[in-house]
Amino acid sequence: MIDVQYNVDLARHTTFGISAKCDIFAEYDTVDDLVQLLCSPELQKVPIINIGEGSNILFVSDFNGAVLHSRIYGIEIISDKGDEVLVRAGSGVCWDSFVGWAAENSLYGIENLSSIPGTVGASAIQNIGAYGVEAKDVIFKVEAYDTVEHKNKVFSVEECLYGYRDSMFKHTQPHERYIVTHVQYRLSRKKQFNISYGALSKMASDIDLTLHKVRDFITQVRNKKLPDPAKNGSAGSFFKNPVVPTAIFNKLADRHPDMPHYPAEKQGFIKLSAGWLIEHAGLKGFSIGGAVVWPLQCLVIANAGNADASDVISLMEHIQQCVKNEFQVNLFPEVLLIPEKAILKK
Ligand SMILES: Cc1cc2nc3c(=O)[nH]c(=O)nc-3n(C[C@H](O)[C@H](O)[C@H](O)COP(=O)(O)OP(=O)(O)OC[C@H]3O[C@@H](n4cnc5c(N)ncnc54)[C@H](O)[C@@H]3O)c2cc1C
Repeated sequence: MIDVQYNVDLARHTTFGISAKCDIFAEYDTVDDLVQLLCSPELQKVPIINIGEGSNILFVSDFNGAVLHSRIYGIEIISDKGDEVLVRAGSGVCWDSFVGWAAENSLYGIENLSSIPGTVGASAIQNIGAYGVEAKDVIFKVEAYDTVEHKNKVFSVEECLYGYRDSMFKHTQPHERYIVTHVQYRLSRKKQFNISYGALSKMASDIDLTLHKVRDFITQVRNKKLPDPAKNGSAGSFFKNPVVPTAIFNKLADRHPDMPHYPAEKQGFIKLSAGWLIEHAGLKGFSIGGAVVWPLQCLVIANAGNADASDVISLMEHIQQCVKNEFQVNLFPEVLLIPEKAILKK
């Protein structure tokens, strides 16, 4: 089935909860419905974007085009060979429900990604990550509809070119060329936890550790530091953790020996904590209009209740400037700003 609505406010379709209208909002239940929708005359003429739960997006202005939303649900085991289990999930499945399903079925590998908002489809675009695990560690294949060649394609994990919160899907020409319809994950029946990262190491002494215990622990830790979505909208981490050459890091570390830092994927580079930089630029709790630097996690810009997109953009630019002045480090948004051109013009 296909549902099409016109002139829709996207506030309730994004976790920031900030108003912006789109001309067309269309939902589809199957791959055939998606194809039918894309072939319809009214969608041929306008820009399109496919969103999930809108938990990593800010519509900076009204979107004169069509916003598509997958309702392709369903989770199935497609191969079960001893320890290794291949699972296929629809792009519209809520990510945390999928993690819960895996825990119910004693399948290991994604428990550290508990409580991350969003959908299965977006997990493969974003390469979501938390507590030392990334989606790319468990993705086997990604099934997508190619809006240029008008056919279904299946990508191996290598073809997805995953990096830190990045994938080839984010760099296609045209933008949004591929619409993810299903994702196949490689999970494990072998009882093994990845609890060496940060607060999770507290669980190392638990000899009866279970997937449910790990999920509950992570959910509690996250709930403590992140805004309650029912009260304060946000899109999670607003900025990516910056990656700088080791020589620049060494200079910064001379001035700030306590500065947190992590190995980067690229040789000769170090990853810094954007949250630490923002806090130490004196911006904890700083607000512009209705947008606020979340005091318990400075990496998050939250909607204090009445923010509009220009408040968030002004705060974003202020943070970038202050961090640059204080540390000579550039911060780049992790959140997708739509339309991106609106920002470039400013
Ligand atoms: C409170 C909070 C905490 C968060 N914590 C984390 C965290 O710990 N780790 C982390 O990695 N992220 C985190 N995030 C960010 C967010 O949850 C992830 O980026 C998530 O994957 C976004 O899913 P979504 O369905 O909401 O995607 P959306 O925000 O709707 O879309 C994100 C991008 O994916 C594209 N997209 C979505 N679905 C499809 C599809 N089917 N086909 C093609 N393109 C698609 C969109 O066009 C857009 O470019 C957090 C967000 C919030 C609000």
